[in-house]
Amino acid sequence: MRRVLVANRGEIAVRIIRAAHAAGLETVAVYSDADEHGRWVQLADTAVHIGKSAAAKSYLNSAALVEAARSTGADAVHPGYGFLSERAGAAKEFADAGLTFVGPAVSTIETMGDKAAAREAARRAGVPVVPGSGPVGDVDEALAAADDVGYPVLLKAAAGGGGRGIRPVASAAELAEALPAAQAEARAAFSDDTVYLEWAIDGARHIEVQILADTAGTVVHTFERDCSVQRRRQKLIEEAPAPGLPARTRADINDAAVRLARQVGYLGAGTVEFLLTPSGEFFFIEMNTRIQVEHPISEAITGVDLVSEQLRIAAGEPISFGQDEVGIRGAAVELRINAEDPDNRFQPTPGTLTRLDLPGGPGVRVDTGFVAGDRISPFYDSMIAKVICSGPDRDTALARARQALAELRVEGVPTTVSVHRRLLDEPDVRAGAVHTRWLEELMPETL
Ligand code: ADP
Ligand code: ADP
Ligand code: MG
Repeated sequence: MRRVLVANRGEIAVRIIRAAHAAGLETVAVYSDADEHGRWVQLADTAVHIGKSAAAKSYLNSAALVEAARSTGADAVHPGYGFLSERAGAAKEFADAGLTFVGPAVSTIETMGDKAAAREAARRAGVPVVPGSGPVGDVDEALAAADDVGYPVLLKAAAGGGGRGIRPVASAAELAEALPAAQAEARAAFSDDTVYLEWAIDGARHIEVQILADTAGTVVHTFERDCSVQRRRQKLIEEAPAPGLPARTRADINDAAVRLARQVGYLGAGTVEFLLTPSGEFFFIEMNTRIQVEHPISEAITGVDLVSEQLRIAAGEPISFGQDEVGIRGAAVELRINAEDPDNRFQPTPGTLTRLDLPGGPGVRVDTGFVAGDRISPFYDSMIAKVICSGPDRDTALARARQALAELRVEGVPTTVSVHRRLLDEPDVRAGAVHTRWLEELMPETL
């Protein structure tokens, strides 16, 4: 592996380019019409224009990406998150073109990208799975499955992601109408109308485990993250480690994630997501076969550079540390600063960043793909920056986050900064006592 094409944009493209250069690799950036002046375009050794602004014409156009790799002599592709990162078909096209895909095998992406199949794999690995069904084809099947599980249930698109394709159903009467609607929605959004049922767990925390697996068959975890502060099933604040998790539960949940990774012959970095019930039981919900937005908080508490490890693994090298060499040091929190209007139901607010003053100091890291003067484009997701604050303990990490928010100035577009300021002072956040619908209960006006 010598030259990596970064098939992404924004902060994660910058993050990957930095890791590649530090590893002595050359980089190729790609950009659409909207992104000609992107920071990642300037940081890479070479940059290739791959098409129009719409993602389907650029960052999702695998043929254009293969051609960009060919024309620049790249021998590997890092997909980042979103876009093509979990598309088995694209991974296969890259492999067929002789490119190393920084991620797991095509067959693993296929299996884990289908949430119903992933649940099966978890079950085989002896990992507890949320009570639910396999794919349900018609209303009778769905009614029978929901009777077994008990209402309320969630109808979930097997191919869903990004918080989309999930529909709560309170009763049998609702289910008859909800099923065809969910199927139609899934077909339109994910080109796959497979849906299944899950028990809708009330008051659960979202706990996910970061794992790494190399070609020698070594699988390690770098502990868990708590991503319970969500709006409409999308993460807003994440922290590591999960506050107040009993040592026994921590060991069990991390071990379950490693077991699942082994079971599916995993390769690379991945995240196994669970829900933790108020009574302390945890259940698998899905696995993301890619680097995750919130990976820096795991880096902050373990000292592991996850993107460097991804590149090592893709090059056939072993993970650079053993499980017994990695522990939890301190605590970290990540705030997603999005161009969204909290006063208008978090609608995206694309526009020009007229000012962007970033915070700094000990334990403060900001990952962003933008500088003042850049435009937040309506074509892509609305994240402007991630503010990651860490310290020797949770209180210090949160205090640094408060200070970082006080220093952060974003002008030109409405952002989520004001919400973060408010949330960091909420007693439940200070106490680490939130669940996945907590924010919606706190701010029902934002739904
Ligand atoms: P993370 O836990 O890394 O935040 P998300 O599920 O929020 O994972 O997805 C990360 C990125 O990928 C986000 O930009 C999200 O919008 C995008 N994404 C993930 N899956 C899909 C999907 N199936 N369709 C559209 N976008 C997706
Ligand atoms: P995505 O692929 O969109 O990330 P997930 O299956 O990871 O979908 O679920 C996203 C979020 O939806 C979870 O973090 C949680 O807040 C909520 N959720 C998912 N499944 C359940 C469930 N069975 N009960 C309650 N909440 C759930
Ligand atoms: Mg998820």
